[in-house]
Amino acid sequence: MSFKLTILPGDHEIEVAEDQPLVDAAIESGLMLPYSCRDGVCGACKGKILSGTVDYGRHGPDTLTDADKAEGLALFCCATAKSDLVIEARNVSRVDDIPIKKLPCRVQKLEKAAPDVMILEVKLPATEKFAFRAGQYIDFLLPGDKRRSFSIGNGPEVQDSVELHIRHVPGGHFTDKVFTTMKERDILRFEGPLGSFFLREDSDAPIVLLAGGTGFAPIKSIVEHAIAKGMTRPMTLYWGARDRAGLYLSALAEQWEKDHEWFKFVPVLSDMTPEDEWKGRTGLVHLAVIEDLPDLSGHQVYACGAPAMIEASMADFMSQCRLPEDQYFADSFTFSADSQP
Ligand SMILES: Cc1cc2nc3c(=O)[nH]c(=O)nc-3n(C[C@H](O)[C@H](O)[C@H](O)COP(=O)(O)OP(=O)(O)OC[C@H]3O[C@@H](n4cnc5c(N)ncnc54)[C@H](O)[C@@H]3O)c2cc1C
Repeated sequence: MSFKLTILPGDHEIEVAEDQPLVDAAIESGLMLPYSCRDGVCGACKGKILSGTVDYGRHGPDTLTDADKAEGLALFCCATAKSDLVIEARNVSRVDDIPIKKLPCRVQKLEKAAPDVMILEVKLPATEKFAFRAGQYIDFLLPGDKRRSFSIGNGPEVQDSVELHIRHVPGGHFTDKVFTTMKERDILRFEGPLGSFFLREDSDAPIVLLAGGTGFAPIKSIVEHAIAKGMTRPMTLYWGARDRAGLYLSALAEQWEKDHEWFKFVPVLSDMTPEDEWKGRTGLVHLAVIEDLPDLSGHQVYACGAPAMIEASMADFMSQCRLPEDQYFADSFTFSADSQP
């Protein structure tokens, strides 16, 4: 059985199968709605049901509250249709057809970039080209139906391997292994590319790139893609970390700034020690953006990192800096639903 799904803005009419999450039906029809974790945890896909009824699906109780439901809100990554529906998303874009694949891969390189950050490079089968948009992520597929999300850290020009920047979560099911037993030539499986966080190339608005910790990975993908394509769109990277070690590839960002007039780099530390001998910006990274750019009305923002940074920057940029809602793109580094207490 299937239902008619009308998506605003744009009045797109598509079919959605019973039991099919609304985001999946949209992607199948070549439409991209905002989404990130696909687990009902991060809230990036939250939107309005204008008419019809849904099954809300499995979701975090704080991500979609009873008050949200009473207001007509739902999470489109886990909601399924129980009737014909009209829904409103933050933005809708048409996407060309990049297939989401499940692929095996082999660990090619494990490099500790900071005490708690591993750069993991995996090699794809020689017969497979892996196409994706700069900024997207993959899910490692683990035994017991578990999956763990990590953003791709290289530009899409590289198609035979994938770079990931993995922060160690002590006691974490997957990242503990990455930091202890994983070795070169190990075989992993992943699904991708995923996510609506990617560079919008149809705009020439200046860009603010906001990264927290390993949120630098998808930002690196975007900048490397911009360099490879010869773009000159102004981009300013604000990269926040607790201490100097957390800016684990700052030399690369400094080099981009030297090589490209259109690129600026603002590192910001929040909990540095005297040994860091830090003379740069301090405090919360998104507040540094507000200080420098109190009017973001003509900008696009691409933000990636811890959920608290995403929530605060989205709220403050829109309420204080006049950033239009549909010009804010983010991946919130939430945990997998199967790791929630
Ligand atoms: C779209 C997306 C992209 C992501 N990209 C990246 C990336 O590029 N790099 C990266 O380092 N992470 C990224 N993450 C976050 C990463 O997927 C999680 O941290 C993951 O759950 C860690 O897996 P694990 O099996 O080691 O820990 P789990 O077994 O999932 O968790 C173990 C325990 O630690 C808690 N926990 C899990 N993660 C964190 C955390 N980040 N901070 C504090 N407590 C935590 C859990 O609640 C649980 O209690 C991304 C997440 C999403 C949704």
